[in-house]
Amino acid sequence: MESMILEVAIDTPLRQVFDYRPADGEGVPVPGTRVLVPFGRRQVIGIVVSHKERSEHSEDRLKRILRAIDPQPTLDAPLLKLLRWAADYYHHPLGEALATALPKLAREGAALLAAVEVWHLTDAGRAALAAGEPRRAPRQRAVLEALQHRTEGPERAGTTAVLGTEAVLGTEAALLDDTLPGWRDAARALRDRGWVERGTRGATRASPAAPATAVPPAPPRRPAPTAAQQAALEAICARDRDSYHAWLLHGVTGSGKTEVYLRLTEDALAAGRSVLVLVPEIGLTPQLVGRFAARFAGVPLAVLHSGLTDGARLAAWRRAHSGEARLVIGTRSAIFAPLPALGLILVDEEHDASFKQQEGGFRYSARDLALVRAQGLGIPVVLGSATPSLETLHNAATGRMTRLTLPERAAAARPPLLRLIDLRAERVHAGLATTSVTAIERHLAADGQVLVYINRRGYAPTLACTACGWVAPCASCDARMTVYRNASRLRCHHCGADRELPRQCPTCGYAVKTVGQGTERVEETLAESFPGVAIARLDRDVVRRSDQLEAVLERVAGGEARILVGTQMVTKGHDFPAVTLAVVLNADQGLFSTDFRAAERLAQTLVQVAGRSGRGAQAGEVLIQTEHPEHPLLRSLLDGGYDAFAARALEERREAAWPPFARLAALRASAPSAETTLSFLDAARRIAGRPPQGLRLLGPAPAALARRADRHHAQLLLDAADRTVLHRFLDHWLPLVETLPEARRVRWALDVDPLELF
Ligand SMILES: [Zn+2]
Ligand SMILES: [Zn+2]
Repeated sequence: MESMILEVAIDTPLRQVFDYRPADGEGVPVPGTRVLVPFGRRQVIGIVVSHKERSEHSEDRLKRILRAIDPQPTLDAPLLKLLRWAADYYHHPLGEALATALPKLAREGAALLAAVEVWHLTDAGRAALAAGEPRRAPRQRAVLEALQHRTEGPERAGTTAVLGTEAVLGTEAALLDDTLPGWRDAARALRDRGWVERGTRGATRASPAAPATAVPPAPPRRPAPTAAQQAALEAICARDRDSYHAWLLHGVTGSGKTEVYLRLTEDALAAGRSVLVLVPEIGLTPQLVGRFAARFAGVPLAVLHSGLTDGARLAAWRRAHSGEARLVIGTRSAIFAPLPALGLILVDEEHDASFKQQEGGFRYSARDLALVRAQGLGIPVVLGSATPSLETLHNAATGRMTRLTLPERAAAARPPLLRLIDLRAERVHAGLATTSVTAIERHLAADGQVLVYINRRGYAPTLACTACGWVAPCASCDARMTVYRNASRLRCHHCGADRELPRQCPTCGYAVKTVGQGTERVEETLAESFPGVAIARLDRDVVRRSDQLEAVLERVAGGEARILVGTQMVTKGHDFPAVTLAVVLNADQGLFSTDFRAAERLAQTLVQVAGRSGRGAQAGEVLIQTEHPEHPLLRSLLDGGYDAFAARALEERREAAWPPFARLAALRASAPSAETTLSFLDAARRIAGRPPQGLRLLGPAPAALARRADRHHAQLLLDAADRTVLHRFLDHWLPLVETLPEARRVRWALDVDPLELF
């Protein structure tokens, strides 16, 4: 087919694909295959996205691809389709979107299949073996025999090399490791005599059409499902496994969502399918990964997250791609993990903001793409949460997904008792109201554990002068620097600036004092109030690595630490079974924010913190300190729980025409000066002309924290009545924005369905 044209996506900001002709004398690579192509003066790796009959460019000017990187596609047809859909929906260049789906080393051309170390006999070795050599080295003889047997065995026939020039048959080193301990020294001696050689070949790929026959061994010990778990499982399993359906699994903390995930996974694995589990942050959820690993001990598992080295990431991705890993657990970008026989997608803590990419260019939502991927494959998808996002609750209410509720806690405990503490009517010392301190005392005396939540890390959020009103500012941000008293430093949480803690005011020389409290200070105050009581702290300053997290969790779970002080991190899916009291120190920040999602986030945090308290049949106690005990948000949450809050908040969203009752996109920009940033956004607004009916352009407006790390941030908000209006407008407008001369002087990105507004 000489006239065949390949459309190739290349990792560039250009919104187009490029036409190439196939390489001379080679087959035509199917869509999804990585190819090496000449691009300008360089050679780059692109991905074939489609074939066509003819090009708009004259054929003799079309270049040929140089070669295909692999004989088979890197992205299978459904995954390629998902990525094309995502590039389209988020209005992002396809080449960059496809690059996002691959590990760095795969983008750079690493082979799809891992190279496997093999050893084989040479002709001299075969002759030596036949002659009964070597006579006085039994181990070397054993190695020769093993290689002869394996090399000539029928099971190796047909294995071809993808590396090197000729087919290399041989015995895998891993097999020798298993069968002949200490074989390596013998093999080296044999190689020195020219009897054996070491080589590499590609791993064999499990065929997606023929799922692994090995049914996972029955798990050793499974708890019997509760009635609610059973009902949820029956509802999901009653549906055809090979048809799309979206489920919301709404279960309070401790209600046993994980057991439902595990049983569904077991089911899918037994049917020869693989399973993708998305979690917010692996480092913060070692317990969930641990439970999957323990339950499916015999099932190859791959874990994909941003903390992996490039090599480890490539290895995990290859195991998924080959079909070897039947279970993939990963964070946001794992939504693009290649899984040949995917049969189920689970999204845990679906409300978590980390599922939305909020930086860089390709700002996708892994949670939303999970629905699209499941739909494309015709498989079930389950979104789980104790505090579902309002979008998801709305989807359930309008029939786009089915809601399943796990009402009670698995261990038959009663829900925690929530109480507001009026900070205006209390004596407050270092952020702790008297009632809170008394309650902590009471729970410690009754052998309980206490959780103290404060969403600020460091010692204090501000350092101020006692005389002239100076507060320590960050030189690069519109923000104050956080005091770290133990380390004697001032640090900016926005740009990372770090300097010596001044002893006196740099302006007037008077004494300085810390204002407000962070986790460090609360820990200090509690240590003074409760001498001899061991206290643990959990925040991003303590936990730089996941093993540090596990150390803290162990101190709490083992009962050594009696009080745990922590930030948002304490709400991320850890079980603290002995915590009987939770105290929320500052609930008020989310009550009066300009961001329409702030209330939702606050309610989620409060419910998640509350969910950490309660032990066995004993109800937990939750104290929420506030200066606004009459605030309707807090009242609805206390009187009717999360459902009542959500119903009320959704009604407010409907009245104000905010999502999910409208569609938003934000054009975000930053530059060293405010003028440059705003002139770009002004130009973008002008070029839009009169927006179509049903669409409003709001702004440009500077970010609440406009200057961050010496750059000024601002946005233009697009507010549309529905998705079609928004996307039709973006299709026409973005190419114009891109060509604005002002665009070259800023960093800009389009954020479709933005989570945070400023
Ligand atoms: Zn001063
Ligand atoms: Zn800063």
